[in-house]
Order: sequence, then structure tokens, then C-alpha cells
Amino acid sequence: MNTMRLQSTAEAFARFRSMAELVELVELAENKAWPLVVLGGGSNVLLSPRLEGLVIQSSNDSVTPLGLRNGRQLVKVGAGKNWHEWVCESIAYGHGLENLSLIPGSVGASPIQNIGAYGVEVGEYIESVIGYQVSTGQIRHLDRPDCRFGYRDSVFKRELKNDFVVTSVIFALKTEFIPELSYGPLASLKTDYPDTAGNCITPDKLIAKVCEIRSSKLPDPGKIPNCGSFFKNPVVSRVLYKSISGQFPAVPNYPVASAGSVKLAAAWLIDQSGWKGKRLGKVGMHDQQALVMTADDGATLDDVLALRDAVRRSVFERFGVELEPEPVLVDGSAG
Ligand SMILES: Cc1cc2nc3c(=O)[nH]c(=O)nc-3n(C[C@H](O)[C@H](O)[C@H](O)COP(=O)(O)OP(=O)(O)OC[C@H]3O[C@@H](n4cnc5c(N)ncnc54)[C@H](O)[C@@H]3O)c2cc1C
Repeated sequence: MNTMRLQSTAEAFARFRSMAELVELVELAENKAWPLVVLGGGSNVLLSPRLEGLVIQSSNDSVTPLGLRNGRQLVKVGAGKNWHEWVCESIAYGHGLENLSLIPGSVGASPIQNIGAYGVEVGEYIESVIGYQVSTGQIRHLDRPDCRFGYRDSVFKRELKNDFVVTSVIFALKTEFIPELSYGPLASLKTDYPDTAGNCITPDKLIAKVCEIRSSKLPDPGKIPNCGSFFKNPVVSRVLYKSISGQFPAVPNYPVASAGSVKLAAAWLIDQSGWKGKRLGKVGMHDQQALVMTADDGATLDDVLALRDAVRRSVFERFGVELEPEPVLVDGSAG
């Protein structure tokens, strides 16, 4: 149940479909003094060998159109719906999610780290997130501003960490299809929009192109265990950036909203630190995509953490940049 395929055994496991079933499970966990762990598709977690608690997973895959509001088409989707399936279905209702095709995982996890790819972040298309706050026993609807979406970040990773179970997400889709093609490899589609033969890019074609690019760049977790990007792209001060670019003029950099900061490419830093294609025991950094850690059969959480620390140390020693891991370490002890 985790794409890194780490062996992990939980004290107890249950699926819930309705809010009533979820509340019952939360009460059971409280009575047994079990920490509660929420699992989606397991594509962004590092599981410890033993989870002392109750692991719960939504099986609600309902899709309910709610009509138009402020020019956007609202659709409520259950947390247990497979993300890619939802993206493919979403184009029957509206647009905006096409660039997020083929990201593994569930709808319920999509707001947690505000999933993003190819110039789009899911937060732009979320109207609200519905769920249950464990500490207060409240059913809550958090509107987009309350979710405080940032780069791979949200309130669910901060104030509400380990305290909020997402049961459904209401998406606000654009009624008009205006493809986002700023990401390099998608730019070639621009010339086809509309092309001289009168064929326009369709949402289907955009989804197919995104799937093609992703399949050619990222190892398929079905074949090679991995959990996607292992580190976030670091945002550093302009002062640090200047010192790095003085020494390494080729350092790739991207603008960020806050003045005085620059985003660097974690993959480049890892590659330059000698870790691309390098292994440590049963884990390694992928030889085509340095940002992805892959695991062999029998790899343990300790193997993963040892390589994580070794990569972070090398990058810090060479560039003075602290890399922050993207996957969530789940040991069941946080409650
Ligand atoms: C090959 C590959 C490529 C990837 N590419 C991308 C990418 O391009 N962009 C990107 O942003 N991410 C990417 N990821 C990361 C991952 O797919 C996303 O983070 C995804 O949203 C995780 O979904 P999941 O259901 O598997 O969550 P899980 O891994 O099961 O859980 C992740 C976190 O969310 C919490 N969570 C899950 N469901 C709920 C819920 N219902 N309520 C409350 N908390 C919940 C968990 O407790 C955990 O903290 C990639 C991963 C892989 C393996």
C-alpha cells in the first residue's frame, strides 16, 4: 500500500466511506488510545516497519456536480477517488486539472501538499476541502484561503497536521479550456493551438501529452518502487544564490513571489553533488532523474533515511543549501 514498497505492519486498518463511519473509527481509536494515521494511495509516505495505531483510508470515490458558481463549475469528489481517474473525468465538467494527469495517489491527499506539475497547482482549482477535525470533533468546510496553499504546502501540513481527515474536495473548474503550456516540453503544443489544419489542442490531447512526458521522465512506481520527488526545490536568499552562481554560473534558477528569494532545482544540486545514479545499499538516486529515490526489494526505512541524510549532507557541504524532504515520514507515533 505504499509506492516505495517498504514493509510496514499496522496495529489495525480500516476503510471508511461516510462521515458517520469515520467518526466511529476515530472514537474507536480514542477508546483504544491508538494514534490515527490517514493513508491515501501511499505515494508520498515513508512508512515505519511498525505503525502502533489505526490506519484509515477513504473508499469514497463519488463524483457529484454542484453546478455553476462565480463562473466556475463546482464538483464534489470523494477523498478515496484515484487522482488520475478524476483528472480524466474532470474534463466532462470543466478545465484546469489536465496538467496534473498521472500524479499517483488519491483526491483526498491532493490538497495536503497542494500537488503541482507543469505550471499548475491544484490549490488554484479547489473551492473548499471538507473533513473532520479530530481534536475538536468538528466537521469543517475549509474554503481556499483557509487552506493556505503554498509550494507543496498547506494548512494540513502545518496547524492541522495529523488533526484533519479530508473526506471530500470541492473543485472549481474553469468553464473555458485555456491550456497552460508554459512548461518547456508542453510548449510545442502551442503551435497546434489551433494548427493550420484547424485542429485545436483538446483537453484529451493535453492529458495524453502530459502522460507521455511523465512516463518518459519518471520511473513507474509499479515497476521501480519510488515516491516521486524526494526533495522539494529549495527557496534560498538572493545572497546565497549570488554566491552559488558566482562559483557555478550554470545553476538553474526560477523566480518566486517573495522578492529577495530564488528557487533552485534540487535535481541539479543533487546531480552536481555526485548522487545522480548513485546507490547506498538497497536504495539509490535514479540515474535519469536525480530527484527520485528508488528502492530495491527488501529496502528498509533505515536504508531510505541513511541515503536521505547522505544526500542532504553532500548538498549542504557543496552549496550551503538545506534540502527539505517531500514525502511524509509516518511512524504512527504523532497521533
Ligand atoms: C512517480 C511519482 C510521481 C509524483 N509526481 C508528483 C508531482 O508531479 N507533483 C506532486 O505534487 N506530487 C507528486 N508525487 C507525490 C504524490 O503523488 C502526491 O503527493 C499525492 O498527492 C499523494 O497522494 P496519496 O493518496 O498517495 O497520499 P499518501 O502518500 O497516502 O499520503 C500523503 C500524506 O497525505 C495524508 N493524507 C492522505 N489522504 C488523506 C486524507 N484523506 N485526509 C488527510 N490526510 C491525508 C497522509 O497522512 C500523508 O501525510 C509523485 C509521486 C510518485 C510516486
